[in-house]
Amino acid sequence: MKIDTHVHTRNSADGRDSISEICRQAVEKGISFLCTTDHLDYDLKYGGHAAVPWKHIDLDEYKAEWLEAKEALGEDSGLELRFGIEAGWSKKAEKHLEELLPRYDFDQVINSVHFVLGWDVYFPQAFWFKPKKRLYSQYLKNVLESLDAPYEYDVVAHFGYVTRNAPYKDKSLNYSDYPELFDKILLKVIEKGKALEINTHKTWYPTDEILRRYYALGGRKISFGSDSHRGQLCEDYEKVCAYLLDIGFTHFSVFRKHVESLVEIPRF
Ligand SMILES: [Zn+2]
Ligand SMILES: [Zn+2]
Repeated sequence: MKIDTHVHTRNSADGRDSISEICRQAVEKGISFLCTTDHLDYDLKYGGHAAVPWKHIDLDEYKAEWLEAKEALGEDSGLELRFGIEAGWSKKAEKHLEELLPRYDFDQVINSVHFVLGWDVYFPQAFWFKPKKRLYSQYLKNVLESLDAPYEYDVVAHFGYVTRNAPYKDKSLNYSDYPELFDKILLKVIEKGKALEINTHKTWYPTDEILRRYYALGGRKISFGSDSHRGQLCEDYEKVCAYLLDIGFTHFSVFRKHVESLVEIPRF
């Protein structure tokens, strides 16, 4: 069974395809469970910096388009379509998300950290004049704090994302540099019963040592997200399945109205 539970549509400023086009691609790829998860980044509205003026999502439009695509899909497509959101955490965004998220009846909420020290770390400007240690330790502290978000969420996304566009000569974020912080985060994910995501957009996150540490600490809940923005549904799915089975994971977590179901990780 092929699943993908982190997918962007044209309702994200950086997404391309309509939801019905994504459904068409999913059916073609033999995907049987797909959750769309567009960006909801309140920081952009409340003083955060991005190098380009991202358009903020219109949740009503997103929901209307999703309902239409769901209906058009029908019962016999072999694809179960679910409605999700990628909620960008920050201390400022928390209260807005707490108020807004319950109004949309999401199947799955992804908890993400994109902003560190006021900047979206997607952009090089986020790193200007900031030594690696300052930026990375603050990222980890943000992730730790995000786990106590006052709203319902299911998945902890792309843990380690801060390194993606980092300009440092050695941009790796190693367990040995922050063992206590890493363990606090991983133990909290486990204690709260959240699923840690394996994200295959460009670089895989988390890194091998962090994923193995999660497993060693008792973490078993894992979700799969291609984080597709332009037709990359289920990217590296077969490789990821083999890799996770090798570590010892047996099931992916998927969510319907925040209720978890387990899907056996297939052997190809
Ligand atoms: Zn993200
Ligand atoms: Zn995403």
